[in-house]
Amino acid sequence: MSDQATIAVLGTGIMGAPMAGRLLDAGFTVRVWNRTASKAAPLVERGAIAADSPADAVRGADFVLTMLADGPTVHAVMSDVLPAVAPDAIWLQAATVGLAHIEALAKLADDAGVTFLDSPVLGTKQPAETGQLVVMAAGPDDAIERSVPVFEAIGRKIIRLSGTGAASKLKLVVNGWVLGLTNAGAEAIGLSRALGVDPELFLETISGGAADSPYVRIKGRAMIDDDYPLSFPLDLAVKDARLIVEAAGDDVDAGAAVAALRHLERASELGYGETDMAAIYRGVIKGDPS
Ligand code: NAP
Repeated sequence: MSDQATIAVLGTGIMGAPMAGRLLDAGFTVRVWNRTASKAAPLVERGAIAADSPADAVRGADFVLTMLADGPTVHAVMSDVLPAVAPDAIWLQAATVGLAHIEALAKLADDAGVTFLDSPVLGTKQPAETGQLVVMAAGPDDAIERSVPVFEAIGRKIIRLSGTGAASKLKLVVNGWVLGLTNAGAEAIGLSRALGVDPELFLETISGGAADSPYVRIKGRAMIDDDYPLSFPLDLAVKDARLIVEAAGDDVDAGAAVAALRHLERASELGYGETDMAAIYRGVIKGDPS
């Protein structure tokens, strides 16, 4: 099926572009739409079909993959185009939108008679480029089964869940962990410097032991260098931290997520919103971070 199937990718940003690239490599016919058309141009050079509008992208496609910034954006774009989506198509919603929005999007699809899979992904730019994402997929079993060729093109693992929202819940749990790690790394490096300890020694000391984390080494390197090459935009991490704190509600004292949110918001206010989330380091440091 994958040789013939057509997939419309709406949103070719940091994640959507490499995901579309993997789908091209896997033999899908890929239509791409992005608000800023220039970001889709490299995919067109590789064989994707540029669509002038999201409606043109989805018309007659077998799959629609949304990888837009957030819930309100996905809602706005898809409300306009759902009438153009084929009745037997599957909408794969991969952006991180949180619990309230995933329910609203599922209802939107249901009202339009379109099959919907709540299918967020774990992994960032580089895993997206190499097809190493983890796809969390929730929805009807037969729709998940039909979507396996798409998921296998973009990911190394599929976590199957039932019931819309289940995948978005798991995604928030995982992102809470990732945000916690990033924030803890920033605090450790900040504390190192405050105490006059070389932060390289922090990374060297944990290296190879149970307390090590490749993730903290990557993000910690960015923090030590004070250079934040974009992999996960900090402002989208702000969005995620808010979604996590909101989801925790009154049930869990999500102190780590609250702290991460405060530090991310401070970094954003300092002008780091469009750099990588590793710039949370700037939000941790109270004075001059150098
Ligand atoms: P990104 O590079 O900032 O891409 C965001 C996309 O949304 C772009 O296509 C952007 O279009 C579009 N967009 C934003 N506002 C819009 C609007 N008002 N109308 C239409 N399009 C709009 O972000 P990303 O990293 O690819 O993230 C996409 C989603 O995946 C987010 O939900 C994010 O939380 C999630 N995610 C990200 C990562 C990661 O590591 N980066 C990992 C897993 C999940 P323009 O190009 O025109 O701005």
